[in-house]
Amino acid sequence: MRIDALALRNFRNYDALNVTFAPDCNVIVGENAQGKTNLLEAIVYLSSARSPRARAEKELISFGKSECSIKANAFARNRDFLLEIALAAGRRRKILINKVPVKKGSDLSDVLGAVYFCPEDLLLIRDGAAARRKFMDDALCQLRARYAQALSDYHRAYEHKTRILRDSEEYPSLLDTLPEFDLRMAQSGAVIIYYRARFCERLKEYAGIAHRECSGGREELGVEYQTVSTISDPLAPIETIYDQLRAHQASHAAAERASRMCLSGPHKDDIAVTIGGVNARQFSSQGQTRTAALAFKLAEREIYREITSRTPLLLLDDVLSELDGTRQDFVLNQIRTGQVLITCCEPEKLTGLGQTVQIHGGQVMQDVSCFAPEADFYLCTQCDRFSFALELGREAGGLAYSRKIEI
Ligand code: ATP
Ligand code: MG
Repeated sequence: MRIDALALRNFRNYDALNVTFAPDCNVIVGENAQGKTNLLEAIVYLSSARSPRARAEKELISFGKSECSIKANAFARNRDFLLEIALAAGRRRKILINKVPVKKGSDLSDVLGAVYFCPEDLLLIRDGAAARRKFMDDALCQLRARYAQALSDYHRAYEHKTRILRDSEEYPSLLDTLPEFDLRMAQSGAVIIYYRARFCERLKEYAGIAHRECSGGREELGVEYQTVSTISDPLAPIETIYDQLRAHQASHAAAERASRMCLSGPHKDDIAVTIGGVNARQFSSQGQTRTAALAFKLAEREIYREITSRTPLLLLDDVLSELDGTRQDFVLNQIRTGQVLITCCEPEKLTGLGQTVQIHGGQVMQDVSCFAPEADFYLCTQCDRFSFALELGREAGGLAYSRKIEI
């Protein structure tokens, strides 16, 4: 699967962007705050209708504008797709696949899969359990429709149960409805645990290999799925997990009513991560943490490939900083399969890896690397800074150059 072309209108700091991508490696180069992450964000959004960093959709619309659009030509499952998303402040977003409106973000995931790694992913290891549950949920929702359904059922029942318990002191009769929500949470919870346990088994294997290789064989990554204490084997059939969840609910019913909190269920699941047998959350260095988070993401890509026989896009945002030479080499080796977009502030680290896309003030200059180093320099009309290697009068991705600078 791959994305061949992307067009953005009023998306973040892009007024109008048209860019094409190579089917293998694309190096997105630019100084800080030029729009590299925004570009990757647009692609993640196209693959799931979810932004990895925006809290509200309207954040994606350029400041001072009321609507934006993201369009892409993609190739997946042996055919071409035109993917379109239109966002407008105060209105429902529109998603079209080959001009046909669709309702769910998962319809986009069926076409385009993407694994995105960014500096904030350190939190995957460092933060509380919610970050690791989100990692499992995001990955599994892309892969298993049954999981996505169970997760949404579980959240709905959990919210009802939480409200009932919270308000039960004032309205004790609410407690009569609790068994219904316990039943629903056990049914959907069993499906969630069943899939998470299998996902973590694969994660343990693939992330273990990636971490070992990345650290030059010096470090062992440990990954252990942690769920409700009565589940003796999370890899057991769903019916067994269901029975054991019901037992846990029964043993915690009194405590839940007393504390007026929902204490039983996979909403407290976690993945215990160790490096060299030591708790990674508490003791790992910045570089080790980043390696472990990267290993998780690379493992996610392998699991995706194993389940669907398709290779998702790999979007690596600022991945090289804080990694030593061995670890950087490992990352650069990983980007030789499938389509990859990797951002970087220092292009010399990634020369010769693939097509270069130079980003500058929300505009794009493609294939800068193909120009001869002795080519002329020009002054950018927008920021008044020197740019390089463009023919006089030529427009590169919308950038206009006013005059040639003799050097
Ligand atoms: P870095 O190398 O520092 O990570 P970057 O190239 O990845 O930089 P981006 O995160 O893509 O930079 O952000 C580029 C610019 O986009 C920032 O200056 C940011 O303020 C701006 N920006 C973010 N959201 C919007 C928006 N909704 N409208 C206009 N500009 C925005
Ligand atoms: Mg960035």
